[in-house]
Amino acid sequence: MIKITKFGGSSVASAAQFRKVKSIIEADPSRRFVVVSAVGKRDKSDNKITDLLYLVNAHRTYHVSCVPLLADIEQRFVDIADELDLDYPMAERFEEFSSHIADYSPEYVVSRGEWFTAQLMSEYLGLPFVDAADVIVFHHDGTLDLARTNDRVHEAVVRVGRFVMPGFYGATVDGEVRLLDRGGGDITGSILARALEADLYENWTDVSGFLSADPRIVSHPRAIRRITFDEMRELSYMGANVLHEEAIFPVREANIPIAILNTNRPQDAGTIIRETAEEGEDEPLITGIAGKRDFLAVHVSKTHMSDAVGVLRRTLAIFERYGVSIEHIPTGIDSFGVVVNGSDVKDSIYSIVADIQKEIEPDEVKVIDELALISVVGRNMSSRPGTSGRLFGTLGDAGINVRMITQSSQEINIIMGVNNKDFERTIRVIYDAFVSEEGCAR
Ligand code: ASP
Repeated sequence: MIKITKFGGSSVASAAQFRKVKSIIEADPSRRFVVVSAVGKRDKSDNKITDLLYLVNAHRTYHVSCVPLLADIEQRFVDIADELDLDYPMAERFEEFSSHIADYSPEYVVSRGEWFTAQLMSEYLGLPFVDAADVIVFHHDGTLDLARTNDRVHEAVVRVGRFVMPGFYGATVDGEVRLLDRGGGDITGSILARALEADLYENWTDVSGFLSADPRIVSHPRAIRRITFDEMRELSYMGANVLHEEAIFPVREANIPIAILNTNRPQDAGTIIRETAEEGEDEPLITGIAGKRDFLAVHVSKTHMSDAVGVLRRTLAIFERYGVSIEHIPTGIDSFGVVVNGSDVKDSIYSIVADIQKEIEPDEVKVIDELALISVVGRNMSSRPGTSGRLFGTLGDAGINVRMITQSSQEINIIMGVNNKDFERTIRVIYDAFVSEEGCAR
């Protein structure tokens, strides 16, 4: 059994967090490959080391002294090393780095957050350190060289067996450090999981997995136990973010499940994300609810539109001309709506409507603004008849006016448009009726 175990910034933010990491690693011998992010925030008001390193680069650009900033960064690492009583010469190593700072590329400077964190972690866990610059290979155009990376991962395993590796960066074959996107430690873990055909990719963070609704809207929402990649994509798109999106693709292709787990509450079950979740009696009807405010729908009606060819295409071409990306297109027989992000059309909406009037000659064009979209996601909805009837019945009983409905072709979600002002209440009503303990029992 092989597990890739990745710890995010808050999981390695202090000596106390390092101790939690150690007990997690020691609790399971299949946790043989550890990836770490850079030391992160201890609390909301704290700084992430990566942010401070970006600031170091900004200071360098504007020729401002970065001595105090580097001293702060050093102190964070030294505190951890001291508190854990590590043999690692932290201050010395950091000073070697900071005294040559003028010679380093911006990427190299930023990557030292992960590098030093992994150095300390390798010392603390007593596992070999493997540098991501020797393993995660980038092409010169900035894309990943997956074939070479794969070989290098295997070579590292043969060389040292178990290891600790920094996330978030790699290097070209000439050794130039390149960074992944922000939050990219998740991607490093995923690449390793794929290369080693791991049985599980554990992503340890500071939440016990995905929640079935936003806790700022629903108090103490249930955690999602099992979710499919598609469902997760729907929920993340609507704003529920835990994992870097790009981290999904490598493991998804190889059918490796991801577990989202909480370093501060390792006893919690967390969320398992996989290609297909097993069907079962106890599986909830609705996996999660997410949404966003401030959309706008342009509603176009034209008699006998269903017999005319090209009306929809010509309308969409108008949006394209204005560079506006389209979110949804709910359609009727002789009408359709084009739903877009309100902020994308704030300067162009009058011109778009005028062009539709001129080029499409519709019977009516109506703009519905202040629209919130709510996505109710659940792979089991399609197999249980009457779901949407019950859903809309519930909203009707609560006096909520549903202004638009669409459903994705995979039938894993129903998207509803309601007035912005009804946004939070709609989520609560659906949650209470379908997701909370009582709702599920019905
Ligand atoms: N340390 C990097 C960041 O803050 C990458 C990561 O945390 O995964 O974006």
